[in-house]
Amino acid sequence: MSKIIIIGAGGVGTVVAHKAAQNHAVFTDILLASRTQSKCDAIADAIGTKYGNQPIRTAQVDADNVAELVSLFKNFKPELVINVALPYQDLTIMDACLEAGVNYLDTANYEPKDEAKFEYKWQWAYQDKFEKAGLTAILGCGFDPGVTSIFTAYAAKHYFSKMEYLDIVDCNAGDHGKAFATNFNPEINIREVTQKGKYWENGQWVVTEPHEIHKPLIYPRIGPKESYVIYHEELESLVKNFPSLKRARFWMTFGQEYLTHLRVIQNIGMARIDPILYNGVEIVPIQFLKAVLPDPGELGENYTGETSIGCRIKGLDKEGKEIAYYIYNNCLHQDAYKETGTQGVSYTTGVPATIGALMFAKNNWRKPGVFNVEEFNPDPFLDELNKQGLPWHEIFNGDLEV
Ligand code: NDP
Repeated sequence: MSKIIIIGAGGVGTVVAHKAAQNHAVFTDILLASRTQSKCDAIADAIGTKYGNQPIRTAQVDADNVAELVSLFKNFKPELVINVALPYQDLTIMDACLEAGVNYLDTANYEPKDEAKFEYKWQWAYQDKFEKAGLTAILGCGFDPGVTSIFTAYAAKHYFSKMEYLDIVDCNAGDHGKAFATNFNPEINIREVTQKGKYWENGQWVVTEPHEIHKPLIYPRIGPKESYVIYHEELESLVKNFPSLKRARFWMTFGQEYLTHLRVIQNIGMARIDPILYNGVEIVPIQFLKAVLPDPGELGENYTGETSIGCRIKGLDKEGKEIAYYIYNNCLHQDAYKETGTQGVSYTTGVPATIGALMFAKNNWRKPGVFNVEEFNPDPFLDELNKQGLPWHEIFNGDLEV
């Protein structure tokens, strides 16, 4: 029996609202709050009571404003906030949680608006405050970060005595029929994929030019896709929590068309995150670009194909013999759309966020402090992942290609 607030009424928020309503035996009272209340109302209306749930309540909130958040939390008195707004709001929401005595979960680490920097240091700095307040903060509970980190924890727990090489592989072999669109918030997405590449090797970070390292990797049910080493935030916490890792990398697939558009966007200055003066008004080019690009939450209707995301790990098994292990999930965009009206990338993020909230509500993941998801027991989470729409698979001692 749990009261929750979901903040953010985008693609991911839509999926969390559906999944939380489906789990109404646990989430008895749900409030969806975001900057634009009409978007919350549309989601709540579409869900109605179709899962046997109570109607979802809605509210307007500016999550950059701690006082507004505190007043919302004090009025509704939730046990947990699921933050699926933007990474810029992580710290204000965490501050409000501390002031109102509410637990916290998110899917992306804090980023300052004026610097595309993906680091946990700002949120890890809240450790003492959450611990003293007896509150739990669960960081990075989407798919990547999220399920990929939990897959890694599961491998460490059940199969490895020493994990040495980790390659997280993220393939989207879907086709949305648009010349260029991003699968989640365009501003956050473009900031992420245009930065320099970075991976962990022999105790230090190795920095590369953007998309410098690439090769085709074979994905289950999909086949070979050109995959690029990029920096991704879960690498930072995984190398800290699994210090036996000699190398940890993150690979993502991109089509040529996508990369060409990205290059042009950068070359003409549209990826800039600093304000410029336009007709006497300050605008940030990447924010203007977001306003003219397709809304990721609305790509679902014609989206075909599937995603395949997993972890390829090498090291020593519990007996000290060499082992190669691959754990992954494939998700069909069409299935995600049929169930929630959104595409697969929103679905693969929103389902784990809801399961993280379930883990908290059922006391499986609850301890005072700030934690990345791999610091909790992976078993009950992965049981639920199978039941909540994202079944996972394992391959032992196959060719990992990496
Ligand atoms: P969207 O842009 O579709 O949705 C974001 C929502 O947050 C919008 O409804 C927006 O409101 C709202 N919002 C933005 N600023 C504020 C504010 N100041 N106050 C209140 N609400 C605000 O993004 P997505 O749904 O695609 O992504 C949501 C989150 O999920 C992002 O943080 C993203 O990084 C993360 N993510 C994580 C992944 C993972 O695997 N871990 C993968 C994909 C995404 P409005 O509608 O008014 O603009």
